[in-house]
Amino acid sequence: MPPFTPSSHAAGLLTNYPPVERWDDWTEYDPADWPRKVARKYMLVPTICFNCEAACGLLAYVDKQDLSIRKFEGNPEHPGSRGRNCAKGPATINQVNDPERILYPLKRSGPRGSGQWERTTWDEVLDTFSSRIRQALIENRRTEVMYHVGRPGHDGYMDRVLQSWGVDGHNSHTNVCSSSARLGYALWQGADRPSPDHSNARFILLISAHLETGHYFNPHAQRIIEAKAAGSKIAVIDTRLSNTASMADYWLSTWPGSEAALLLAMANVILQEERYNREFLRCWVNWEETLRALRPDAESTFDNFLEALKAHYATYTPAYAERETGVAAALIVQVAREIADAGTAFAAHVWRSAASGNEGGWQVARCLEFLSVLTGSVGTRGGTSPNTWDKFVATPFKKPAPQNVWNELLYPKEYPLSFHELSFLLPHFLKSGRGRVDTYFTRVYNPVWTNPDGATWIEVLKDERLVGLHAALTPVWSETAWFADYVLPMGTAAERHDLMSQETQAGSWIGFRQPVLRVVHDKLGQPVRFTYEANPGEVWEEDEFWIELSWRIDPDGSLGVRQHFESPYRAGEKLTIDEYYQWIFENSVPGLPEAAAAQGLTPLAYMRKYGAFAVKRDVYNLHDMPVEPAQLAGAEIDPATHLVHQQGQVIGVEIDGKVVTGFATPSRKLELFSQTLHDWHWPEHALPGYIKSHVHRDHIDHTKGEYVLLPTFRLPTLIHTRAGNAKWLYEISHTNPLWLHPRDAERLGVDLGSLVKVHTETGYFVIRVWITEAIRPGVVACSHHLGRWRLDKESGGDRWSTALADLQEVGPGQWRLRQVHGIEPFHSVDPDSDRVWWKDAGVHQNLTFPVHPDPVSGMHCWHQKVRVEHAGPEDRYGDVFVDTNKSFQVYEQWLKKTRPAPGPDGLRRPLWFARAVRPSNEVYRLTDTPAS
Ligand code: SF4
Repeated sequence: MPPFTPSSHAAGLLTNYPPVERWDDWTEYDPADWPRKVARKYMLVPTICFNCEAACGLLAYVDKQDLSIRKFEGNPEHPGSRGRNCAKGPATINQVNDPERILYPLKRSGPRGSGQWERTTWDEVLDTFSSRIRQALIENRRTEVMYHVGRPGHDGYMDRVLQSWGVDGHNSHTNVCSSSARLGYALWQGADRPSPDHSNARFILLISAHLETGHYFNPHAQRIIEAKAAGSKIAVIDTRLSNTASMADYWLSTWPGSEAALLLAMANVILQEERYNREFLRCWVNWEETLRALRPDAESTFDNFLEALKAHYATYTPAYAERETGVAAALIVQVAREIADAGTAFAAHVWRSAASGNEGGWQVARCLEFLSVLTGSVGTRGGTSPNTWDKFVATPFKKPAPQNVWNELLYPKEYPLSFHELSFLLPHFLKSGRGRVDTYFTRVYNPVWTNPDGATWIEVLKDERLVGLHAALTPVWSETAWFADYVLPMGTAAERHDLMSQETQAGSWIGFRQPVLRVVHDKLGQPVRFTYEANPGEVWEEDEFWIELSWRIDPDGSLGVRQHFESPYRAGEKLTIDEYYQWIFENSVPGLPEAAAAQGLTPLAYMRKYGAFAVKRDVYNLHDMPVEPAQLAGAEIDPATHLVHQQGQVIGVEIDGKVVTGFATPSRKLELFSQTLHDWHWPEHALPGYIKSHVHRDHIDHTKGEYVLLPTFRLPTLIHTRAGNAKWLYEISHTNPLWLHPRDAERLGVDLGSLVKVHTETGYFVIRVWITEAIRPGVVACSHHLGRWRLDKESGGDRWSTALADLQEVGPGQWRLRQVHGIEPFHSVDPDSDRVWWKDAGVHQNLTFPVHPDPVSGMHCWHQKVRVEHAGPEDRYGDVFVDTNKSFQVYEQWLKKTRPAPGPDGLRRPLWFARAVRPSNEVYRLTDTPAS
């Protein structure tokens, strides 16, 4: 395919998109009136999808007659998605028009969780929360204000807000998602994510189902298919025969948790057959350090390193890998040779999947990157780059100083190497007396449903001694919002501003999410002051909420907060949201002011018109970029490490007499041997290796009905708890049966649709089976997207997607969830709600999972050892039972596996590691810094 250029439809490539010059006045026939030809006039406004992290472009079609949004299609001007979307993009219209959405701020009027609510005003909300936060700041309780985000949907906005308050209060969902892969990548290259250049790859190795549900799903999928169409081959490592595996040239169905052994066997083949990229290894791997670790007595020569490396990995034979993984040795050798043949055009990706399922899963990412390193395909055309090369985060005006406090509820000393916060352990920390949260915001975050051990979340969220005041910021009801004090309606993808950029290709772009109707009002010469004036009901956009809240926290500026919310254009006056983005587009997006000027537009007007901007294209080999000569004046080169120092800072590394940038690691090389792991108490894992998972086959006794449960896979049409307000998506997907191999079905004596009871360490769930050869014998699988519930007949959850349930604490810490009924038609302003035909809402399996925090990465290890049996006469579909006393014991067992800080120099965490909303360096020292 030719490279993407804006307006490429003009070149005949994307002929089905309205040309941008006609977006303000577009006419097309209304398909709902077919076969009559009824013309409708539209104004098309670009925005960004908010249904997954990929941040694809959307075009909102606004009917000029009544100013309603009629539909969403792809934005052809978006460099990442190039006009294409998955099913969830167009389904944004369901979310905008959802009759179940919350339109006004609500305040609890009975006990927490009682379901008694009353409407309140935004003024009351802002006054209540601002006075509480102000008090916390005055009393220096800077770890008691917490913002807990599920899907950020923006780059950096909240970091700035929280740092302007001076609190260490950013919490995320990362440790139930991607922290293991992040650690694996960060140890190699500093950057904690991979950016594969799929389009130009000759061989693509995917761990998990990237074509149908992957990280950066649609942008990556279209590039993978482009590569395939151009002759590239694809291998997929996945226990399940996913739709992605079905499109691949090679499907390697591994025993869950054995993936690192498979990858190391491939590495071993490449090493033994001397198919590695010798020059790349010599220049870019910290081979001297590695050799010292492997053979302390050997002379420091590159050949000695290669010999030591070969010897070290020689035990990972294809035969050994076959025993561990169940994948045939010959197939492992074949794929390894294909990878070697691809050389520098080998692209690879793992994000969740095997990395997030298993204890030691971070080594899966480390071993996968090992293959990229051996082939010299790091940073190359068709290879895999550090994500930081391809993601562009713009800098806002007046960046606050880092907070001078460390919150141990977020980064406890047991997990000094975690990526990121130990978010899913928050209730366990609170229960065990480690602290308290005074003011708690959950935002697009539903831990009661999404996280493991949701019943423990319920117990803690109900306890006002542990969580003082809780606001759920959300467009819709959720299981978590039900237990909040305030439910604050926030905008969907068409009702808010955000900046987003993702590493979807070898280049970077910035996307602009916009409140569509506000933009339309502007275009019609009827501007509004605040987004909520154009949004439905009293739906605020968060950007404006945080500005207003921050202003009220510090009305006279005495706390130092207000200065960050004063206009950069009007001294001393309150910032407007237009000014915030105007400043960024004018000052911190390279090339944008020039591109805008070329069209006679301001940078803000350009972004409002196109919704996205390509910042860089064809980004490769940045590690090999020479350091600017001006920077080198007076610099010193360390003869032992070849690091180049300037005024106490490392600015590059000398390679063969040339000073270049290198990678973002302490050695500026790719770190095969990790001194960091060695120094931070994990010397046995300092090299890429294989850690046997908590669900290793040795732990599973099939004769006792034991299996490994894979609970992590996505469905292409749903996204965690955020798709429940999209009727089209739930009409397509509304069940999550237990995948079971025919041999196991025979062993258990069950048929298609039989009810089984799946026992975890702390409870059970009751579910129907789906018998399929698409799962490995001995393993069962269940998608985590379904099983939504509500406790009230008419509210507390979208009726498109939730079962009405009864939740009882039947004994201390013993919770039973029973479905009263599944999904039923309901009456609303949307006539489709009377036509709902699907009944199944799925089963909420996550409630029965105890927490399994990986002792190194902090990642929740999702896979479960389970026992499957026939359901009993008392059991009903969807039943869930869990004992939180037992789940607390499991938490304590896993906590004992950790090796806490301090590390070298008394540090809580390596200074070179990224940390979300990074505090000042001073508070990294464990001994003498303020912390909660
Ligand atoms: S992949 Fe689908 S859900 Fe994700 S941003 Fe793109 S269109 Fe939206």
